[in-house]
Amino acid sequence: MKKFDPEQALSEVKREFGEHGGVAPSISRASTFTVMDAGTMPDIFEGLRTPKQDGCYLYSRHFNPTVNILDRYLAAIDDTEAALSTASGMSAISCSILQICRVGDHIVASNTIYGGTHALFNELFREMGIHTTFVDPADNRAFEAAITPKTKIIFTETVSNPTLKVADIPGISKIAHKHNLKLIVDNTFTPMIISPARLGADIVVYSMTKFINGASDLLAGAVCASKEFINELMDLHTGRVMLLGPTIDPRVAFDLIQRIPHLGIRMREHSRRGIAVSEKLQDLGVSVSYPGLKEHAQHKLFTSMMNEAYGYGGIITIDCKTKEKAHTVMSELQNAEHFGLMAVSLGYFDTLMSCSSSSTSSEISDRDQAEMGLSHGLLRISIGITGALEFRIEQIERAVKKLLI
Ligand code: PLP
Repeated sequence: MKKFDPEQALSEVKREFGEHGGVAPSISRASTFTVMDAGTMPDIFEGLRTPKQDGCYLYSRHFNPTVNILDRYLAAIDDTEAALSTASGMSAISCSILQICRVGDHIVASNTIYGGTHALFNELFREMGIHTTFVDPADNRAFEAAITPKTKIIFTETVSNPTLKVADIPGISKIAHKHNLKLIVDNTFTPMIISPARLGADIVVYSMTKFINGASDLLAGAVCASKEFINELMDLHTGRVMLLGPTIDPRVAFDLIQRIPHLGIRMREHSRRGIAVSEKLQDLGVSVSYPGLKEHAQHKLFTSMMNEAYGYGGIITIDCKTKEKAHTVMSELQNAEHFGLMAVSLGYFDTLMSCSSSSTSSEISDRDQAEMGLSHGLLRISIGITGALEFRIEQIERAVKKLLI
């Protein structure tokens, strides 16, 4: 397949200048838009005039000029026909699924996904009559074996939260398409690094709250897909984003517009530090997992799917075996070493650490946590890009020598 460079693709998107030639675009904050001629309004409602063709905007839950700039950036970096930003990662996932599934339908999903997504499938969708079978994302045959005549979607994360299992997107997409299903991939951990749509995913979703924004100061999500699917989500009568209303605020969209141009630089730096820290921990004999390590079970698979030059991402895990041990290590790393912060979320410019089993995966039952291979002592570390790397390595080395080895 032809090589793809998301940064290059982004640089080819036409930049919008602000009023008075501002180097940043102006924020279009209006919730509603006027027309010069009364006849234009019904035309917009009937889809005869659109923002793209005629510059005709209607109402900002539908389309907004600032949000549209962000959407163009997202489509460029994921190499999809179109994209749509939303108010959160959860709304990107839930609206995409509800656009496709109806009562009685079935989903096959990876069993190691973000706890909120797991609860969405296992609790809310189940109550609504949409059932999910969870399977090991590293086992393509398990996805196929779980498909029933009612299945509509296969859902997986590219790199799973928090176990860092890597999904074989080309292989799973072949299975999905053989059975006429849509493959939805949550690429939150690996923006720019892996481009799921180029590997066969039909719909790529993001929590932009994480790496894409990189500053832990806003919530946002994205759906990158075909024009047809994005138009369905925004249909005035049936679109799930239009009707459920998780629209991104143009001010939030503006912040993302200002940060996406340096996403590539940030991802490369997260990756440079991710590999350096995990190699050090491995040398010290710590039970560390990182897809960039040759010892990672899907290292080769990850390598075969990645865009060149962006590395293996910023998330590593350490298995401290017990929750208590994980808490002691985290506290030492925060309060004695100032290596990072104890907080959920990831993709911040500073290091964030959490014990997944009792935090962001706590919605998942103990039995299901065991099934997905999640240890109670798993410490997920989102490696930041601040401070001298050598100094950061000394900090974590001291802490693990004191507490883990
Ligand atoms: N997907 C993944 C992989 C996540 O880690 C998260 C949040 O932690 C989400 C989706 C949900 O995103 P948000 O918090 O932006 O709704």
